[in-house]
Amino acid sequence: MATILLSEEKQQILNVVKDFCKKEIAPVAMELEHADEYPHDIVEKMKELGFFGFTIPEEFGGIGLDYVTYSLVIEEITRYWMSVSGILNSHLIMAHIVEKYGTKEQKDHYLPKFATGELRGGLALSEADAGTDIQNIATKAVLQSERYVINGTKMWITNARYGNTFILAAKTDLQVTPRYKGISLFIAEKGDGFLYKRHRQTWLQRN
Ligand SMILES: Cc1cc2nc3c(=O)[nH]c(=O)nc-3n(C[C@H](O)[C@H](O)[C@H](O)COP(=O)(O)OP(=O)(O)OC[C@H]3O[C@@H](n4cnc5c(N)ncnc54)[C@H](O)[C@@H]3O)c2cc1C
Repeated sequence: MATILLSEEKQQILNVVKDFCKKEIAPVAMELEHADEYPHDIVEKMKELGFFGFTIPEEFGGIGLDYVTYSLVIEEITRYWMSVSGILNSHLIMAHIVEKYGTKEQKDHYLPKFATGELRGGLALSEADAGTDIQNIATKAVLQSERYVINGTKMWITNARYGNTFILAAKTDLQVTPRYKGISLFIAEKGDGFLYKRHRQTWLQRN
């Protein structure tokens, strides 16, 4: 097994995570997992410690961790409770997409809020008939005047219930070949017309 040597600063960050896992996650993980309850207290503490900004660059208020160190952070968290890693990972993938492909205006607006956890969320890609075959999404975005009107339903979205901002995949071109080239990504905040509807457990009980 390869040994990864971390700088003192990165090792300190990892030590903070290890301490956090032992003190805050370990005592409640089993109980919350079995009750299928969202770890609100853990999330609040992660916000205070800046965890939602792990890989967001420092210029936007994040910690600016490289992905090797971040993977060690996630390895540590998943040792205690895998679900907590999902809350962070999908949020930080969303942040990465904004950082890599967003406009300057979008970066300046969203990344500092993602870093503090004020805005949290993830990826809204999957649908009933589009998982691995993502180009099969039925959600459409139609340009009307200067705004896109988006219609569709997503499912299996990590952070859907308690998050508020998502990278939303929608078709903007239905004719292009290959079909995946007709997909665009939007930054969508919950609000009028963009709602969370039901939790997996509710669905299972009804069917
Ligand atoms: C814990 C969890 C969290 C998730 N969070 C999110 C989220 O935050 N946002 C989001 O958008 N989605 C999320 N998803 C959905 C996830 O992205 C999809 O489940 C995934 O893309 C697979 O799609 P599917 O379940 O429809 O399976 P399918 O696409 O139906 O695949 C079923 C099986 O068939 C195999 N398969 C499919 N196509 C082929 C092929 N052409 N050749 C060979 N094998 C094939 C697959 O490998 C798989 O084993 C989450 C899923 C899970 C389990």
